Amino acid sequence: MIHQLPKLPFNDDALEPFISKKTIEFHYGKHHQAYLNNLNNLIPGTKFENLPLDEIVKESDNGIYNNSAQVWNHTFYFMALSPKPAKEPKGLLAEAINNDFGSFEQFKERFSAQALALFGSGWLWLVRTHDKRLNIIPESNAGNPIRINLKPILTIDVWEHAYYLDYQNRRADYLKNLWNIIDWSVVEKRFEE
Ligand code: MN
Repeated sequence: MIHQLPKLPFNDDALEPFISKKTIEFHYGKHHQAYLNNLNNLIPGTKFENLPLDEIVKESDNGIYNNSAQVWNHTFYFMALSPKPAKEPKGLLAEAINNDFGSFEQFKERFSAQALALFGSGWLWLVRTHDKRLNIIPESNAGNPIRINLKPILTIDVWEHAYYLDYQNRRADYLKNLWNIIDWSVVEKRFEE
């Protein structure tokens, strides 16, 4: 099976001024594409050849794991971004955020602080646990919490390539601006699924 890069639900320049056209061109067009190409080159002749992407992420190791997880993670990250986002959660997700973090504002502060504190390259995840509570999970490199049977509902890419062209070393500014383009209607759907 040849894995394909999903088409983004926005144009390359649609997230400006928070994420530039140039960043999308490199981050989606080069980095995301490269992980996909690597994956498609690595799996022929292995037991992963005909598995869906999430099964490969759960079952593989080394290069196949790194590249499959990076494909999964980037798709998940990009799909929750929008130039016209719902800027706050509603319904059951809003209730869960209030229960587990105190308020949406407090959640954002904690999530940003943990994303800032994540050393090196990685991903910060908001996951739904088995008892429908929320938890924040930091992962290094390609780390993805579906490996430990948690359900991701939001992720932030904190690899430098996600923000370097726009913010250079200022990860805090990237994180602050991301709240303007995270679409909580997408996160809600994932939470309720
Ligand atoms: Mn990335």
